[in-house]
Amino acid sequence: MEKREQMYEGKAKKVFATDDPNLCIVSYKDDATAFNGLKKGTIAGKGVINNRVTNYLMGKLEAEGIPTHFVEELSERDTLVRRVSIVPLEVIVRNIAAGSFSKRFGVQEGTDLQCPTLEFCLKDDDLGDPMVNEYHIYACGWATKEEVETIKDITFRVNEYLKNYFAAIGILLVDFKLEFGKTADGKIVLADEISPDTCRFWDMETREKLDKDRFRRDLGNVEDAYQEICRRLLGE
Ligand code: UDP
Repeated sequence: MEKREQMYEGKAKKVFATDDPNLCIVSYKDDATAFNGLKKGTIAGKGVINNRVTNYLMGKLEAEGIPTHFVEELSERDTLVRRVSIVPLEVIVRNIAAGSFSKRFGVQEGTDLQCPTLEFCLKDDDLGDPMVNEYHIYACGWATKEEVETIKDITFRVNEYLKNYFAAIGILLVDFKLEFGKTADGKIVLADEISPDTCRFWDMETREKLDKDRFRRDLGNVEDAYQEICRRLLGE
C-alpha cells in the first residue's frame, strides 16, 4: 500500500490517502508541542517509538476484543489504518491525580483516585480543548447518546487492560487520552495513538516520569524516557 495525497497534517502525525478509500496511512513525526501549541520542539526518534508503542498496544487491545483502526505497521514511522471520521472529543481517563486535574481541583499530584474518572474535552485548539459534559455533546451533535455509551464502555475496558498490563512491567498508568473514529458503516473504533505523548507513565518504584511531562516541564532525558517505555513493552 502506497501513500497518495496528504489529507491532513497534525502536530505529531501526517495522514495520507491510499488507493483504497477505506484505508489511510499515518506517518509519525518527531515534532512535539505542549500547552496547546505554545511550546514547540522535537524529540529525536519519538515518531519511531510512538508508532511502535501505539501499534503494539492496539494489537493487544484488538486481541481483547476492542475494535481499533489499526491494520498493519508498514515501516518505522508509517502505519496503515482504517479510514474513519474522528469524533471531535478527547476522552481522558485518570487513575492518579496529575496535570490539569490537580490544578483545577486542588488535588495534589500523585493522589490515588478512589475510582477511575472520565472527562470529555472538545477537540478544538482555537478554543483550548474545553471540557464538555454529555449534555453539551448531545446539544451540539458531536456524538449521539449511543456513540457516547460505546465510547465510555470501550474507554473503561481499555483502562482496566492497560493499567494491569503496565503494572506488570513496573509502570503506573496515571492518566491518558483516547480518540475515537467512526467507520464508513458507522462503527465506533479506537483511533489516534496510545504513547508517551498521550499517557502519563510513572515508574512504579521511583515514581520517575517516563512521558511527555519531561518535555512539558523541561525535566531533561526526554528521549531516554520514551526509549524506556518502548524497551519495557517490547524489549527493544
Ligand atoms: N492529553 C493529551 N492531549 C491533550 C490533552 C491531554 O494527550 O490535548 C493527555 C496527557 O498527556 C495526559 C492526560 O491526557 O496523559 C491528561 O492530561 P491533562 O488534562 O492533565 O492535561 P495536561 O496537564 O497534559 O495539559
